[in-house]
Amino acid sequence: MTYDGFVAVSAKQKRSRGPNRETPWRRRPEDGLSILRIALDTHDPVQRRRIEAMFAGAYQVRRAVQRAARNKTRAYWCAYHERQRDPEAVRDRLGLTRKALERVAYKCLDKAPHLRRYVSKALAMHLADSVFSATERHLFRDARGRRSGLPRVGHWWKFHRLPGRACSHTKARKWESFRLHGTLAGHRAAYTDGAGRFVQPRHLRPVESDAWWRYEGPLAVVFSGLADGTLVLPVRLPTAPCNQPILDHHLADPSRWHKVDLVRTRDPNAPGGWRYEAHLLVLTEPYASPATVARRARVAIDAVDRVAGIDVNVSNVTVASHEAGVAMRLGRIERDPPRRQRAHRRERAERRRKRALDRSRRAMNVAQYQLSKRQEKRARRRAAAGLPPVQVIPAGPRVARSDRVPLQRYRRDQLSRSYQRVRAALVADAAADAQARRAHAREVAAEVVHTHGYRLVVEDTSIAAWSRSWGRAVAAFSPGMLVAAIEREARAVAAIAGSCDGGVRRVSTYATALSQHCPCGARVDKTLADRVHVCTACGLRGDRDAVAAVLASFVVTSGEVDYDATRAARASIVRLLHRSNPYQGWQGTLTESNDLSAREGSCLTWSMSTPDTASRTVVVARRTVGTAASPILNEPGIRQTTSERARWRTDMFPRAGPSWLCSLRDNP
Ligand SMILES: [Zn+2]
Repeated sequence: MTYDGFVAVSAKQKRSRGPNRETPWRRRPEDGLSILRIALDTHDPVQRRRIEAMFAGAYQVRRAVQRAARNKTRAYWCAYHERQRDPEAVRDRLGLTRKALERVAYKCLDKAPHLRRYVSKALAMHLADSVFSATERHLFRDARGRRSGLPRVGHWWKFHRLPGRACSHTKARKWESFRLHGTLAGHRAAYTDGAGRFVQPRHLRPVESDAWWRYEGPLAVVFSGLADGTLVLPVRLPTAPCNQPILDHHLADPSRWHKVDLVRTRDPNAPGGWRYEAHLLVLTEPYASPATVARRARVAIDAVDRVAGIDVNVSNVTVASHEAGVAMRLGRIERDPPRRQRAHRRERAERRRKRALDRSRRAMNVAQYQLSKRQEKRARRRAAAGLPPVQVIPAGPRVARSDRVPLQRYRRDQLSRSYQRVRAALVADAAADAQARRAHAREVAAEVVHTHGYRLVVEDTSIAAWSRSWGRAVAAFSPGMLVAAIEREARAVAAIAGSCDGGVRRVSTYATALSQHCPCGARVDKTLADRVHVCTACGLRGDRDAVAAVLASFVVTSGEVDYDATRAARASIVRLLHRSNPYQGWQGTLTESNDLSAREGSCLTWSMSTPDTASRTVVVARRTVGTAASPILNEPGIRQTTSERARWRTDMFPRAGPSWLCSLRDNP
């Protein structure tokens, strides 16, 4: 029996009698779903210690459940014959069900009664449920036929979320685990200054109530049912005028509040090193400002006949669109010089911090590192001259076994206070950068959909696979995030237009091979190095990405390019390519776009690593960026790996030119 079948049958058997007889509550999809992040005030040391202890206790429970889930899963895969006969029975026997994992969590609480001070049974149950969802993704394939890896035991520093329980929408005043009490009006009334402005002091007033369901004061997240009494955390709302409509949209109607999760993030400036937030799930559409709504409505009318194609590249995204072969538009998104410079500065600061971290780790764990060649030589020289040895921070590789596994695990290393602080700052900076990037992606997506409409086609490429070859270039440009933002915006516009075919449609690369074809229908083979499309059949010449984007915009519902339409629209395509492409050649391409940076990235990677993955060769750390994060013994330098040298010597490359590029054909 398939998993879906299993659910259907068990759902049918249930609910025939007993207290849950009535039809269960279902979320209406048309209500929408939005998450509001609310900051929690934890300046009170007593409450802060309680929430810290709560996270610590919950982590212990979750770890126990994760270990149980992992062991049970291993046993499940080992029971080969039994599984062939009846997989469901094996899961039941081993306890690989939601109920059984919940029982593991309860048992953990019973055996460690001290945890009951901070972790309630309901919280333990939700932790077990979240572990089971991860296990489920491993046990059962998803719609694409993929399953995720074996459930792992999570790390303390990556333990961020305490899942809450949704409030009941059928019974009044039923909301277990984390609840949000108070009203927005009450909050504003409590924090209004003499001039009638909404302001909040640095430390919010403590919130108290003996009847929470009737309470209408300032907002607070409440968790009752603990041995030490109710945990109450005051909520801090943004006071800026531009944020007020967002608060009204989410908080005005408490009947739409659905669920509260407690989330913590590393923040070196927060007391205790963690910042706490409540993520409130609200049954409403995500907020859109009046200007956004107006813009989307305009696009929904203007772009009703427009179809667009996207060509995604490591360092730029090209979009082309047309209305039935006429009124063609072409645009390219890439990082502008100031943005690139800012990213470069940030990268440098990050590298500096990472080097400081590495130095600090080496200084605290001297026994785990060998001396560098230079340090060794110096020590030998001093010993020969009869001088006493000097205390140094060893700069050599980590002490490891012959198979390069370190003798001592990294997590057993001693780390200094400043190490912890710098690492927290690094994480916080990375999070801030990611957020800024998402905001920028949203802006760009709005612009793209405004110009090119809400029906877009993109080749289904694996950006994860690119990251392996062009890690830094992809991370700097993040094309995946951009396409996702375009998709969200296009869907929002399509919803306004009432169209069901809006959004970004992915077509298989295998069927189309857009970058290897010409609008005339001829195949034009190109390597990644060929940035210019030159067709020998029809003489069309133009930027390679632009041609691919134009072809993508002519992909029909069957997933193939409509070459009759492209031939008919040839005149406008030629005009478009000519207008957008003043440079006609290799030199121009290099200076015009930031392909250069992508090539630099790929060049570094490819000349260092051995492309032969079968022999478990690792891409080694670059010498030029300082000490590697995990140094290994006998680390080969740039262009020193044997197979690469052999390739050069034996002239295995079929063509002249930049040799490393020939193996980088992006399409079959
Ligand atoms: Zn052609």
